[in-house]
Amino acid sequence: MAEPRLSLETPIQYLKGVGPKMAKRLAKLNIKTVADLIGHFPFRHQDFSLISPINQVQEGETVTLIGQIKAISNHYTRSSTRKTIQRAILEDETGIIELIWFNQPYLTKTLPIKTTIAASGKIRRRGRRFQLVAPDFEIIDQGKTISRYQIGERVTTDTGRLTPVYSTVFGITNKYLRRLIARVLPQIKDQIKEFLPQKILIQEKLIPQKEALAKIHFPENDAALEKAKKRLAFNEMFLLQLHLLMTKRRWQKRQPAPIIKLDSKRLQQFIEQLPFSLTQAQTRAIKEILADLEKPQAMNRLLQGDVGSGKTIVAAAAILMTANSGYQSALMVPTEILAQQHYNNLSQLLKPFGIKAALLTRNNKLQMVNDQMTKLIVGTHALIHKYAQFDRVGLVIIDEQHRFGVSQRAKLVQRAQLADKDRLSPHILTMTATPIPRTIALTIYGDLDISVLDELPPGRKPVKTYLVPPTKRDACYQWIKNQIISHQIQAFIICPFVEPSETFESVKAATVEYQRLQKEIFPDLRLGLLHGKMKSKEKEEILLKMSRGELDILVATPVVEVGIDIPNASIIIIEAADRFGLAQLHQLRGRVGRSDRQAYCFLFADKLGKKARVRLRAMEKINDGMKLAEIDLQIRGPGEVYGTRQHGFPEFQLASLTDFRLIEQARSAAEQLLASDSDLKNHPQLKRIVADRFQNAPIIPN
Ligand code: ADP
Ligand code: MG
Repeated sequence: MAEPRLSLETPIQYLKGVGPKMAKRLAKLNIKTVADLIGHFPFRHQDFSLISPINQVQEGETVTLIGQIKAISNHYTRSSTRKTIQRAILEDETGIIELIWFNQPYLTKTLPIKTTIAASGKIRRRGRRFQLVAPDFEIIDQGKTISRYQIGERVTTDTGRLTPVYSTVFGITNKYLRRLIARVLPQIKDQIKEFLPQKILIQEKLIPQKEALAKIHFPENDAALEKAKKRLAFNEMFLLQLHLLMTKRRWQKRQPAPIIKLDSKRLQQFIEQLPFSLTQAQTRAIKEILADLEKPQAMNRLLQGDVGSGKTIVAAAAILMTANSGYQSALMVPTEILAQQHYNNLSQLLKPFGIKAALLTRNNKLQMVNDQMTKLIVGTHALIHKYAQFDRVGLVIIDEQHRFGVSQRAKLVQRAQLADKDRLSPHILTMTATPIPRTIALTIYGDLDISVLDELPPGRKPVKTYLVPPTKRDACYQWIKNQIISHQIQAFIICPFVEPSETFESVKAATVEYQRLQKEIFPDLRLGLLHGKMKSKEKEEILLKMSRGELDILVATPVVEVGIDIPNASIIIIEAADRFGLAQLHQLRGRVGRSDRQAYCFLFADKLGKKARVRLRAMEKINDGMKLAEIDLQIRGPGEVYGTRQHGFPEFQLASLTDFRLIEQARSAAEQLLASDSDLKNHPQLKRIVADRFQNAPIIPN
């Protein structure tokens, strides 16, 4: 059957050599149309471009040899597995060499004597002779020409060049994909339209789209491949940035929000009654946030600040102004402990200003919060459940935002909006202690405005951190005991956790450890136990005791990671520290060093592999969360560190979250373009591509 004229939309099964069966297999690779096929980029290339005479090959060299099959035969191995070996002799004008394949008995038919082939692979040595084992090959002459790509005079796909290597599935080989792509490319190449403005191509020194798509598969050399990669990686990052910036704009345009007036006098009063003066970073963040709140469009801002940088006060200022304008604020946090603590702190801070606060958790749902009086509702996930009734929410704050999914955050915003009689959207402030390098933030949170607290309150001494060898464990306990007794300070001991979330095992481990420590190590001290499976009343009591100084040591599972604030605690032991990521260790460590007293962090490790040692040594040397984040990024990669996968973040084929230059360039190119064509009206094709690519993205950004 003659192949129809191909277009990019042609379903793949209509291609010659595909049909329904292969189409089904290709679908597993998400290849359904010609465009998908061309868009299935190789993840690497093999360099078979060195074409060598047979008598000049060297051991270990990756080469392409061109010659004639002189002999070929099938051999059975002696083992019972009935494996077969195919041996062939290849000859050119300079000599002969042995080719070997395994379990491909049909090769004796495919490659009969006198066939001219090109064979590519790595040269091995057997005694004094050379071999090419399991080479890639293609027939380049057999009376008729089969191949299309150039070797000398001829054109090849599998040998004699940079050869693409694709991800494959059962029944789809690399060879098959290469042939298909090589055949289709020239037919549709002229239909591939340029979608980037000429200006950007010139400015960023990018090659045209159709050239990039051809060269990413079959580049003539490394330089051509690099250019293709650069262009296609730029596409990915640029389209994402366009999407993020447009989402941000759309959000701002579409979301009428209450105007929260700045009351400078009240703000001044609030700041003056604090027991400390604000850091410059706090002052700046408050200013940025309050400026947003005064606008009739909803704020959508991320407040990023290392542990202990004082995000709560910044939030409190925003809550105060919101209440002052007659609106409620809803603050959502990931754990009951934290909810309780924020509730206590904020109630205290805001009471002088007549602001009534309420606490809403699963275990505390009877509170009336839709009365006119309550101006702050602090709670857990309970805030998004039906029993949470709001009055008019002007501000939604989400603390430790990475602990919540996109949909949970969206739901809270939605509930707040429904509670408002004018259906105004609340302003949104998300907070995170995870330090994120700026460029990464541009991709993960590119649709948000960002305020950064890059400064700790003055007088904080870096937490002295030590990786303690097992032999020093007892001495360490002894030292801690002395410190506690002579300075009336308090300590945390963080037990290993078994699973990422609180489980039966981790609870049990903590309980056992607690008993051991109380009985055998610290019989004269007052110990408490805290884990996530305790009733919230019990948790509250323990935390209250700890903050009143009625406990010396709090033994806890890593639930304390998120935001517990007990300034008098200045020692923390972290068990099985090797099982934590750097960001998490840094968070845990941030539980101490919250006063001007010198604080200590002792890391114990179960098994100390090489990677773990590098990580824990970094903890000893570095106190800056951002630097640790960068190291974490290098060691573990962005996917793991930022959980981009869980958050439905688009995965890149070629772009990388660690390519800071690319991110900066794509961002500024996108900003430039939108500055002159804010809705892409003059770039309809580009607009459609962005819309198609991100059609499933959530409406409420981040
Ligand atoms: P985080 O950013 O980790 O949420 P918090 O808001 O819990 O930090 O603040 C940590 C501690 O620092 C709290 O005890 C808080 O009262 C205190 N604090 C906040 N801002 C300042 C400041 N400017 N000077 C001194 N202490 C401060
Ligand atoms: Mg906090």
